[in-house]
Amino acid sequence: MTASTPGTTHPAAPALALLLDIDGPVASPVTRDVRPAIIADLVSLASAGIPVLFNTGRSDTFIREQVMAPMIAAGMPAGIVVHAVCEKGAVWFSYTSGGPGPIHVDHELAVPKAYGDDVRRMVAEDYATHMFFDETKRAMVSVEQHLDVPNEDYLAEQRLFDADALELMGRHGLSATLLDHHAPGSDDAADYRLDPTIISTDIESIRLGKDLGASRAVELLAAQGITPKAWRTVGDSRTDYAMADWLHHNGHSVKHIDVRPADGVPNKPYDVLTATDLGLGEDVIHDDAGGAFLRSWREALVG
Ligand SMILES: [Mg+2]
Repeated sequence: MTASTPGTTHPAAPALALLLDIDGPVASPVTRDVRPAIIADLVSLASAGIPVLFNTGRSDTFIREQVMAPMIAAGMPAGIVVHAVCEKGAVWFSYTSGGPGPIHVDHELAVPKAYGDDVRRMVAEDYATHMFFDETKRAMVSVEQHLDVPNEDYLAEQRLFDADALELMGRHGLSATLLDHHAPGSDDAADYRLDPTIISTDIESIRLGKDLGASRAVELLAAQGITPKAWRTVGDSRTDYAMADWLHHNGHSVKHIDVRPADGVPNKPYDVLTATDLGLGEDVIHDDAGGAFLRSWREALVG
């Protein structure tokens, strides 16, 4: 018999907990929304007592609209709690079938408002044809590719934007580095970083990251009395490995799933899986790969 935490239907020691990046493995980087089969599998796994947690650079608004609302509409049962760590650890909230709980914001981790205001103005004046300023962020500044702009056009323009945004940091007396342009760990002297992804540039405190998100995820489960036997982390970027790095370093059993391994799979002290480990082709990436792993866990864990 499985022990349950009072007041919830979660077992206290589930076989797995899932810590999921959103853009890539869950939401399509093309359409930016979540396909119904993935929503159904998330509801099924959560309903079976497998903790489902999100660890994303996205805002709480994005999670509410693209993940929470579809899960509730798909029939998420009462008593299930889903945790969402947003903005790479600066913002977090939990939701049930009744909707979202309080939004928590660590304001010490926010980019100064005057800088954000200048980025908003710069996007409107110089970059509005390719990208938009994400008004839903509470701590980060994020500028994202328009849906109707070809990705290769965006990526070319993004390089110009990144250079301008970095220069603007200096004019505000703030120190910042561009994540792709230096060795790992060398941003220790800077206060902020620019993190260009395939569909956006995030500008954020260097204290934010998927490792901070993983630590909050463990705390959120611990507060429910839940200690999973093992974790699965899923992401599409090199920075997503920080989830598994943190969990492994802190003594948790973890395997990481890379749904876009084209950047190369680094050597890690834990297992790294890709779609080929499910017998799928190397061309199965993004939410095709994320969806396939969720389905495999549903088949293995949900009776
Ligand atoms: Mg991603």
